[in-house]
Parts: sequence; structure tokens; C-alpha cells
Amino acid sequence: MTSKNKLSEYNRKRDFDVTPEPDGTPSKPREENHSFVVQKHDATRLHYDFRLEVDGVLVSWAIPRGPSLNPADKRMAVRTEDHPLDYADFEGVIPSGEYGGGPVIVWDRGTYENLGSELMSKGIRKGRIKFRLNGEKLHGAWSLIRMIRSPKETWLLVKMVDAYADRKRDLVEEQPQSVISGKRVEEVGKR
Ligand code: MN
Repeated sequence: MTSKNKLSEYNRKRDFDVTPEPDGTPSKPREENHSFVVQKHDATRLHYDFRLEVDGVLVSWAIPRGPSLNPADKRMAVRTEDHPLDYADFEGVIPSGEYGGGPVIVWDRGTYENLGSELMSKGIRKGRIKFRLNGEKLHGAWSLIRMIRSPKETWLLVKMVDAYADRKRDLVEEQPQSVISGKRVEEVGKR
């Protein structure tokens, strides 16, 4: 797969004359400071889009219930199309009728480190990755494991046991606001 057609599905699904989302151009892969972002997206169904920078794009999963700090929780994460790196700053309203129509906030962002022994791209192909998040809300070690391969890849996001695991706090409930604007998803697009 060339870097150009990594984003062809992303581009095909969107009309950039209508949506304020960035158009899809892959970036040059970076050696360090790989970013992650979690966007809260109130589309047809509310979900959290979890995205990891891998080889110049944001590899993405939609997580209906969002991340949990409790290592006993397994959060379903459905793989979605790769997004451009520019998408990590996107906060706004996708017009209704467009793909993913509804408001989006940047719920968390930061950098991550691969904790696996293989490259992230290889781990993703094999369906098993481990990483450490250095975000504003999310920290510590996490794993994503693929359960069902096709047609919609279903994975599970699980907090690994470490100092940042917490069996009691509900972070998505406790901290609903954007790390960019401080707005809640229901406030985006309103004046
Ligand atoms: Mn979404």
C-alpha cells in the first residue's frame, strides 16, 4: 500500500466543498513524537474516535463507550479508515447529511510510545499492539487487540495494569470537555 492510497477511503467518503474537515494528504512518516488523539463525536451514535499516528496517517478506531481506566473493562473499538495527521486538530461540526455528520471535539491528545517489540504497522497487521499514552487525560500503558477480522474489524481497547489504572474513576463522565476549547461536544457549533 503506498502512502497516497492510504487515505483514498477517507477522501472518497467526504465532500470537501461541504465539510470543514481537512482533506486527506498523507504526511511524511516521523521517527519520533508520534501523536495520538481521541475525538468525541456525536454522530448518528455518540462515540470516541481513537487515533494513533503510524507512518504518516492516523490509524483510527471508533469506540462507542470511550476508554476506561479499569483494566477489567474491555472497550469495543471498531477500526475505521485512516485519517490525515491534520485531523488531530479538527474540532467543529460536520454538516448533517455528510459522512459522520455531527459535532466533534478533541477530547484528549498527546504523544505515544510503542511498547511492543515490533513496528506499530506490523502489530496492527497482526492485530495486537501495546503503547504508552502521554496525553492530557490519558496516561500509561494500553493494549488494542483485534477480535474479529472482517468486514468491520472489531478490536478491544484495554487499560494495562500500572500506576494510571483506576477501577473507580469514570474519566469520560468526569471530564467531558475538549482539551482545546474547553467546550463539551453539545456546545460545539453553538454561540
Ligand atoms: Mn467518528
